[in-house]
Amino acid sequence: MKSTMMTSPLLVPDMTERAARLFSTAEVVSVQPDGTRDRSNLGDLHRRSRQLAGALQAAGLVEGERVATLMWNEREHLEAYFGIPAAGGVLHALNMRLHTQDLSHVVAHAEDRFLIVEDVLLPIYEQLRPFVQFERIFVVNRTGEKLPEGTECYELFLAGAGGRFTPPVLDENDPAAICYTSGTTGKPKGVVYSHRSICLHALCLSLPDQLSISRSETVCPISSMFHVNAWGLPFAATMAGSRIVLPGRNLQPEALLDLMAAEQVTFSAAVPTVWMAILNALESTPGRWKLSPKLRIAMGGAAAAESLLRRFDKLGVHVIHAWGMTETGPLATAATLKPEMDAWPEDDRYAQRSRQGMALPFIDLRAVNDEGECPWDGATTGELEIRGPWVAAGYHGIEQSAQWTADGWLRTGDVVSIDPEGYIRITDRLKDLIKSGGEWISSVDLENTLIGHPAIREAAVIAVPHPKWQERPLAVIVLREGATVDAEELRAFLQQSFARWQVPDAFVFADELPHTSTGKLLKTKLRNDFCGWQWE
Ligand code: AMP
Repeated sequence: MKSTMMTSPLLVPDMTERAARLFSTAEVVSVQPDGTRDRSNLGDLHRRSRQLAGALQAAGLVEGERVATLMWNEREHLEAYFGIPAAGGVLHALNMRLHTQDLSHVVAHAEDRFLIVEDVLLPIYEQLRPFVQFERIFVVNRTGEKLPEGTECYELFLAGAGGRFTPPVLDENDPAAICYTSGTTGKPKGVVYSHRSICLHALCLSLPDQLSISRSETVCPISSMFHVNAWGLPFAATMAGSRIVLPGRNLQPEALLDLMAAEQVTFSAAVPTVWMAILNALESTPGRWKLSPKLRIAMGGAAAAESLLRRFDKLGVHVIHAWGMTETGPLATAATLKPEMDAWPEDDRYAQRSRQGMALPFIDLRAVNDEGECPWDGATTGELEIRGPWVAAGYHGIEQSAQWTADGWLRTGDVVSIDPEGYIRITDRLKDLIKSGGEWISSVDLENTLIGHPAIREAAVIAVPHPKWQERPLAVIVLREGATVDAEELRAFLQQSFARWQVPDAFVFADELPHTSTGKLLKTKLRNDFCGWQWE
């Protein structure tokens, strides 16, 4: 039985190849920095991504080398998503919200050779410039203004290769993209996606029982293309031949709603913070936006409250709650219902939909605690462990990590129960991190920096629930004897090493901090003490 099926590789560039052949007129709408909408199509995407691949080849890109992008969700970024892997390169979308120190670390760690940056983000590049060394920098220059020294025009770069491109022979396990994620301590860690993992992830997230991405959809990825590749949606939508709407840099709820209404978006995805703001706008001006009656939205990156699902339902917008991590593609579970659940009482259906959901095909989950693997009883909790073909097997450039079990499962750092139907519910987080509006903040890094301040003896930073950002950091400080310092000074002190949004919103001064018998900070007690904290 040796001769079975062909082993044709699963490759990212084949997605645009097919899209161009079969759905070349499917539109790609891209919001420009001035708010106007650029209109192209999947045929253009294929043609231009090949031009980019050819230009990268001509520039000497060697297979496996990284090319960084510094762009919002927009057309040229989509070109890079396909053009870089088509040339055998590795797409590295930079998270522009990181502090310069972290951003320069990831650029150096990934050894990014080239950078593609859009003109409105040049100020971020200028901050980065003294600390990084790209061989060449290509600027998407819409204004036609003179470019900074040492940079080149992206369009000229594309045109320079004269359309010549010799597709390299790629293996499906070759790297195609890298994304960095926050570690509990220290520097961000790189997760490398292969062509195969991206294709399988795109296929499975598109299934009708998951996010159901088809060629009849108009897909608008709001989650950033530098956050786990916008959850893989640009790949899935292109593969399906969907119409694609890219929102650019204006993520204000009114602007997003204007866009979604004008372009009759039928599917979109973002973190709960974004959807909460959109919901408030919709509810405060009923009837202002005529959204598509088919609109469905995915919510993930942080827990979607049941009340959000109910409120969106009242407006005719269906929410799919999903869970995942940078290390898992990201999509690993989705809370869509089984057919028999349609007969369940309404409250039970909402309770089920607000769980993080069940595993996608080919993904295995288990919850493990001190007693071993937890039963699927909906009550016993343990750390969620996961494995599957789009789950990372390691971090880029790190030999070994305690994040993987001896038998090869990824420890997620999320504490869950699994119910008899197979739906997970996240009940806690083991990793000492704060997730604010979908972005990570390391408590431990903040604490380590704080205790470097001469007035501070001890410091704890905890996540406190927040109505807008879901969580915000609060610092509890114990001063050295006789020392004085105020919140303003500490804020300024931290801003030297952290982005402004990572700095705690509140500093509480205490005589002592609670500790375990082994001397570790008792964060659970602190979290309980401050869970009712009233933010100003
Ligand atoms: P990231 O790697 O930045 O995508 O973050 C992944 C982490 O975000 C997960 O391990 C969870 O802690 C959290 N997360 C993602 N989705 C959800 C969700 N639907 N509910 C609760 N937490 C979530």
